[in-house]
Amino acid sequence: MNAAPLTLYNSITRSLERFEPLDAAKGVRVYSCGPTVYSDPHLGNLRAYVFTDTLSRVLSWKGNRLTHVINITDVGHLTSDADAGEDKMEAAARKQGLNAWDISRHFADVFRRNLADLNIRKPTQMPLATDYVIKMIAFAQAIAPDHCYEIESGLYFDSRSVPDYGRLAGSQDDIGEGRIDPVEGKRHPQDFAIWRKTPAGETRQMEWDSPWGRGAPGWHLECSVMSSELLGLPFDIHTGGIDHRQIHHVNEIAQNQAHCGCADSGAKFWMHNNFLVDRDGKMSKSKGGIATLDALVGRGVHPLAYRLMCLSAHYRSELEFSPDNLAAALTRLKRLVMAVRALPLSPATDASGDDDYLVQLDAAVSDDLNTPKALPVLEAMVADKKLTTGRKLALLVHFDDVLGLDLLNLTRDALRVRPADATLTPEAIEARLAERKQARADKDFARSDAVRDELIASGVEVMDGDPLGWDWKLNL
Ligand code: AMP
Ligand code: ZN
Repeated sequence: MNAAPLTLYNSITRSLERFEPLDAAKGVRVYSCGPTVYSDPHLGNLRAYVFTDTLSRVLSWKGNRLTHVINITDVGHLTSDADAGEDKMEAAARKQGLNAWDISRHFADVFRRNLADLNIRKPTQMPLATDYVIKMIAFAQAIAPDHCYEIESGLYFDSRSVPDYGRLAGSQDDIGEGRIDPVEGKRHPQDFAIWRKTPAGETRQMEWDSPWGRGAPGWHLECSVMSSELLGLPFDIHTGGIDHRQIHHVNEIAQNQAHCGCADSGAKFWMHNNFLVDRDGKMSKSKGGIATLDALVGRGVHPLAYRLMCLSAHYRSELEFSPDNLAAALTRLKRLVMAVRALPLSPATDASGDDDYLVQLDAAVSDDLNTPKALPVLEAMVADKKLTTGRKLALLVHFDDVLGLDLLNLTRDALRVRPADATLTPEAIEARLAERKQARADKDFARSDAVRDELIASGVEVMDGDPLGWDWKLNL
């Protein structure tokens, strides 16, 4: 069981590769770039963590001991990835008239809550970048003599000082915004800040003393430092959104090379999830009017419907966020929940190793985490009339383990999330429906139509003859 060879796409070789742990005794070590906590995570950010959760669930299910780190970026990330602009935390603090430390604590909490709502397993550790500043300074001191130079605005990494700089990004021209050179004195456009000095006469809310003066670390430094401290280099897998393939991870690799004095990138696999996009392109926090998980729940959508929506696309494909896609995911989840809830009570029997459904699940997820292929296997299994209930329940343990849809616990009632602006409670809706049923029994169609129209006006769609017996749903 779970014996199919695991194949993952490695961005560094741009190919599918067989995954084997680097060091079986240490287990599999995974580092995921975490969120920058200056505002609510948007649904695109959360897609990145549904992806890492799928990765870690698959690794664990296939029998690996796992150490997974997701950091929290609470300092260092500038308003542009290319070393330009202000620190995102400072900018948010200034705009909102709040303290940067309070802002980061607040949004880190929102992030943790969103992960729990999406049934994303707690990583082994979620370190804060600000707790590692002393270690970052030590790392910078170690690489400074051979790889860095100091100019007025700070300490910069000389991108020409390591072999093959930018190999992750592909061609040098692909190193995104790194080509833009907004900082005076930089030797090469792609050189990046290791330490940003606070300009004379200014004070930042988040700043530390260093050999290069008072200031704050560059963003890329934190991930090299936290990953090497917590996992040891080289580790197995480093993840992030596809935007990180052009700048952030390129620079992390350069720092890692400088630190080890070798050509090693620091991780065996570099994996990147593609974007959640909307009609206007990549979803991003800076665009304003962002879609958050809380906003989705406020519209009556269960968070796991969003998880299912993510799983229904391959992580390396773009996924469009649209009301239609979301409604389709919600319906798909409802159908699964109804089918599972309709199973008669019965003890789970053992799911034996040669069960065809487990083999198919294993084959799908071992093929570069192909969750869109795994979902129809789940649906076929649940609908299979030849399987005993005990067997289905045993298999569901495995599917829940890998896909995290929580089907063994999710109830029909839990799926009925009440929208924030709902005018009717579920009880009131049920009462109206009973009234309508009576009107129809009395052949009082005018009254039954009036009740239905009233429900529609309140955003409730009456579903006559739904094959799963779902009487009503809320329109998104
Ligand atoms: P940030 O909070 O901006 O540091 O981003 C957190 C994670 O979300 C990173 O791994 C990003 O690459 C990823 N990310 C940002 N926008 C999107 C998006 N629209 N779709 C998928 N992932 C994204
Ligand atoms: Zn990072």
